[in-house]
Amino acid sequence: MSNAEKDARLACSRLSIDLGALAHNWTYLASKAGTAECGAAIKGDGYGTGLAKAAQALFTAGCRTFFTAVPEEGLEARAAAPEARVFVLGGLLPDAAHLYHQAGLIPVLNCVAEIRDWAAYCASIDTPLPAAIHLDTGMNRMGLTPDEAKALSADTNLLGRFEPVLMMSHLYCGGDPDTAVSARQLQRFKDMTALFPGVPRSLANSAGIFLGPDYHFDVVRPGISLYGGAAMDDGENPMKPVATAEARILMLRDGFKGETIGYGASQTLTRDSRIAILGIGYADGYHRLAGTGGPQGPANAWINGHTVSLLGRVSMDLIAVDVTDVPEDACKRGDWVEMFGPHISVDEVAAKALTIGYELLTGLGRRYRRSYINAPQDNTAR
Ligand SMILES: *Cc1c(COP(=O)(O)O)cnc(C)c1O
Repeated sequence: MSNAEKDARLACSRLSIDLGALAHNWTYLASKAGTAECGAAIKGDGYGTGLAKAAQALFTAGCRTFFTAVPEEGLEARAAAPEARVFVLGGLLPDAAHLYHQAGLIPVLNCVAEIRDWAAYCASIDTPLPAAIHLDTGMNRMGLTPDEAKALSADTNLLGRFEPVLMMSHLYCGGDPDTAVSARQLQRFKDMTALFPGVPRSLANSAGIFLGPDYHFDVVRPGISLYGGAAMDDGENPMKPVATAEARILMLRDGFKGETIGYGASQTLTRDSRIAILGIGYADGYHRLAGTGGPQGPANAWINGHTVSLLGRVSMDLIAVDVTDVPEDACKRGDWVEMFGPHISVDEVAAKALTIGYELLTGLGRRYRRSYINAPQDNTAR
């Protein structure tokens, strides 16, 4: 059943995706990136916001280059934004070059085997198809080592069979206030890309944009910042929140000092308390550790102007919050409670669960009643 067919009164949790905020965030990052082209990472189902909807909003805002993780996401992006370039960060899968070609996907070639594979396919159809080449500047995940890059740069035969359209690498400590690691990567990236003169370069993810113009090169690839999450570890975050998750108060109850609450009796009430039970849980991707199961103490939620804290463990479908200090009329059965959004940041909840905003967003469950708001209008003449 689509959302439109479902009665909103039947929803226990809802998720609102602000496409206007997404577009705003892209425009903000594009201006920060100066003369570099601002692309968008839309992997992980658009960081949980919905890949197709995110791609359409970003395209309308002006984005023309998308980065997906896997080819199937690439297909979805191609359908949502047919005029845009779509890169597949996960690389070229075996026996699939013709499928990438048919779908108009641009592989990011992450190792020598992928480069040979793509070059062989291009040679077989006598067409130098575009591809990005990933250089490893220290992460030891994907990309060519300095030696491999050097050997490739000398192999004009291999390089001549396809069209390198982007030399890229990825920052692995970009958000760290100590920029020593990033500065070392930057230098390696400059050294390695010097072997491929004239090919556009891309190093910056969201954090890289904030590190300044030295990191911007020709194309920037923000992800988390587009979706409102914090890119820098120091907590500074100028982005607008995009995803708001809310849960309904299913019932209210009293609990008495000395009693425990929830699974595992993990929390003992230190005072007589008023407790609201919310219709959301870890089945919605709200992390179990954000309750008192975690060493950081419980996360907060927000209800009608009041910040409240979680009580006891997060269950699969239920969460208890302490509403003792909330006036009765601000906290009624059926009211909506913000779990994260404009008042409680996704990063704050993630930190309580010992994880990062990225994981909370990409792990959003399917049970939310989803709505998309403020979709940017395409004002260009057709
Ligand atoms: C995910 C990803 C990005 C975007 O990173 P953020 O930290 O979310 O901005 C950019 N480049 C690559 C290679 C990625 O995997």
